[in-house]
Amino acid sequence: MLVLGIDTSCDDTGVGLVRDGRVVANKVASQTLLHQQYGGVVPELASREHTQVIDGLLEQALAEAGVRLQDVDLIAATRGPGLIGALLVGYTYAKGLALALKRPFMGVHHLEGHLYAALAEHPEVEPPFLALIASGGHSHLFRVTAWGQYELLGATMDDAAGEAFDKVARLLGLGYPGGPEIEKLAAQGDPEAVPFGVPLQGQSHYAFSFSGLKTAALRAVEKGFDKADIAASFQRVVVDHLASVVLRAARDTGLQTLLVTGGVAQNRALRERLERAGLKLLFPPRGMATDNGAMIALAAWRRWGGRGDALSLPAAAYLPLA
Ligand code: ATP
Ligand code: FE
Repeated sequence: MLVLGIDTSCDDTGVGLVRDGRVVANKVASQTLLHQQYGGVVPELASREHTQVIDGLLEQALAEAGVRLQDVDLIAATRGPGLIGALLVGYTYAKGLALALKRPFMGVHHLEGHLYAALAEHPEVEPPFLALIASGGHSHLFRVTAWGQYELLGATMDDAAGEAFDKVARLLGLGYPGGPEIEKLAAQGDPEAVPFGVPLQGQSHYAFSFSGLKTAALRAVEKGFDKADIAASFQRVVVDHLASVVLRAARDTGLQTLLVTGGVAQNRALRERLERAGLKLLFPPRGMATDNGAMIALAAWRRWGGRGDALSLPAAAYLPLA
């Protein structure tokens, strides 16, 4: 079965192809440079850019997989959450293709896509397991009790982890996206130099909080701490915070498998910290941690039960997963 997956939820256009659960093409057009000059994503520009590149990306993905459009059996696209104008570009494009080719259509939850990205190379894994989604818009910890059943254990009370990396990077005069920039600069700094405290210590829930760290980082800049030391210390405390909540959830639930996905899953310090805990860890392969179309195709393939969604299923800017 050949599944086409499209994601235009934010500022990346993603078109991917999955054959029988294996990724055979994954093309992403990033709009980072376009939005960089404004210091954040401009929704209308994002939508416009999606419309301009989506046709070409589809052609590239088909060429990469060595298939024709007529070979596609199922067409899936991100339904939400995201910027509604941006979402609608890929979502209605996919519906149009489904209608023209007379193929079934599926609307996929964006976070479900991120989740299945971490399973791309682990088809053997079965629930239950824990899933941490740490991206630009989410820091959510789920217990996946069965395929398609997500119990929200905890979420961020303010900023998402990736958002915190981006904001602190901006404070330090680094580029966007901030995560990779901070990680690079942190390699030259002392992670203990700035005494940032781990947020929400002693809580009995599984919540995250990052906005206090952002303020603490601003104070550290004002006090004249070395930028590399701030980056290293900030990364250290974010990793400690994420790891302490997640590892406590693993102990409390007795679950030994942890899936980590979203852009922050690319962070090496986070990976190394979690690897020391002795859990079975699942991360997305290269190019699949941030937004892409293959993860949407994977999610659709996993959920496929012989019937697609109605073409009347609307896109949604706000769409809870659990
Ligand atoms: P969402 O899926 O919640 O709508 P998003 O799709 O925009 O958000 P992703 O593309 O999954 O988010 O991830 C982007 C985020 O990941 C950015 O905030 C970026 O700074 C962060 N990020 C990327 N690489 C790293 C890294 N190496 N270390 C830390 N953070 C990183
Ligand atoms: Fe995303």
